[in-house]
Amino acid sequence: MSEAALAEEAAALDAADGLAAKRAEFDLDDEVVYLDGNSLGALPRGVAGRLSDVVGREWGRLGIRSWEESGWWTAPERVGDRIGRLIGAAPGQVVAGDSTSVNVFKAVVAAVRLTDTGSRDEVLVDAATFPTDGYIARSAARMTGCRIRAVDAADMAREAGPRTAVALVNHVDYRTGRLHDLPGTTAALRAAGAHTVWDLCHSAGALPVRLDADGADFAVGCTYKYLNGGPGAPAFLYVRRALQDRFDSPLPGWNSHADPFAMDPAYAPAAGAVRGRVGTPEILSLLALDAALDVWDGVGLAAVRAKSLALTDFFLRCVEAYVPEGRVASVTPEAHAERGSQVSLRYGAGAGEVMAELIRRGVVGDHRRPDVLRFGFTPLYTRFADAERAARVLGEVIEAREAARR
Ligand SMILES: *Cc1c(COP(=O)(O)O)cnc(C)c1O
Repeated sequence: MSEAALAEEAAALDAADGLAAKRAEFDLDDEVVYLDGNSLGALPRGVAGRLSDVVGREWGRLGIRSWEESGWWTAPERVGDRIGRLIGAAPGQVVAGDSTSVNVFKAVVAAVRLTDTGSRDEVLVDAATFPTDGYIARSAARMTGCRIRAVDAADMAREAGPRTAVALVNHVDYRTGRLHDLPGTTAALRAAGAHTVWDLCHSAGALPVRLDADGADFAVGCTYKYLNGGPGAPAFLYVRRALQDRFDSPLPGWNSHADPFAMDPAYAPAAGAVRGRVGTPEILSLLALDAALDVWDGVGLAAVRAKSLALTDFFLRCVEAYVPEGRVASVTPEAHAERGSQVSLRYGAGAGEVMAELIRRGVVGDHRRPDVLRFGFTPLYTRFADAERAARVLGEVIEAREAARR
């Protein structure tokens, strides 16, 4: 297909896009095609004003009174419930705070502690996991007297056995963009008597997640990717309601105490999602996240998913049209049921240089060593015209490299 035909198709798709108006709620540079929202989401326009009020009035004028009067103390649960709506969790099961790494630790240790001591001593970890999850799970296993076994996410259901305490799985693979089977894997682990910890870093805000309906036990995820919470925004922890009374946090800080201001030397855990808290919440970044979540008002994840798949399909067609044959190969699954919200293209030696040149030309994706070019599609602000331009510039960059070598 010709460039003119693809550009025309992009314009028609953008004109028919029911989410198109959402883009105006983000502060974006129109000269740049931003395809890295799976690493750091774009800035929602409402954040700066809200933060300035939090700093100037709530902190500057009200000071200590804001813990009560501005609702700071309960913000982790309140923001947690807002995230819960986006991941299929009824209120009271999600708390916002700490990093994903720290929440992985809480969830994996707590999951092992749910099993009778000694009866189950195996922690399964996604063989292709984002590294931090693997490091933390390994340490958590060591601390709880478990062995760790790396298993492909797709094989978890088959590999779980009578000694398996917990499986830690990335819902979407950060490198390839492969979407794993949350309902099926969760049910199989449950049937094997084990618990699941899902890492939703690349699915929260990118596609529909139904934690309650699918019976997930624990879930964690970050909020600075598809949830646009800002650099280092607090992560979240989901603990299924039925497990909350038995949730034994390995980090029982005073914020998780049933009566924190009693300053009791003896620990007594609070009920509910609060039990996942540790220390004083990171109020500035938590309230920036709270403001960022406003862009989700009135947005359904089904519409987000439909646009995400249409965007990635269209981008792949544009890549096929613009990039000389055989230069790149998609490592992201073709099947919609197995695709997250990104496209990863394998390019031989020089992938890092190709991405650097793309960024110089105003197309921002990222490079994952050694040879993957990663393009994240965020349906609230990515246009079909952006997908077309990104593929066109990629083709130009690759052709220019080859011409320079001839
Ligand atoms: C981005 C990401 C993380 C990041 O963890 P932090 O503690 O926020 O640095 C963890 N796991 C996965 C799967 C990720 O994609």
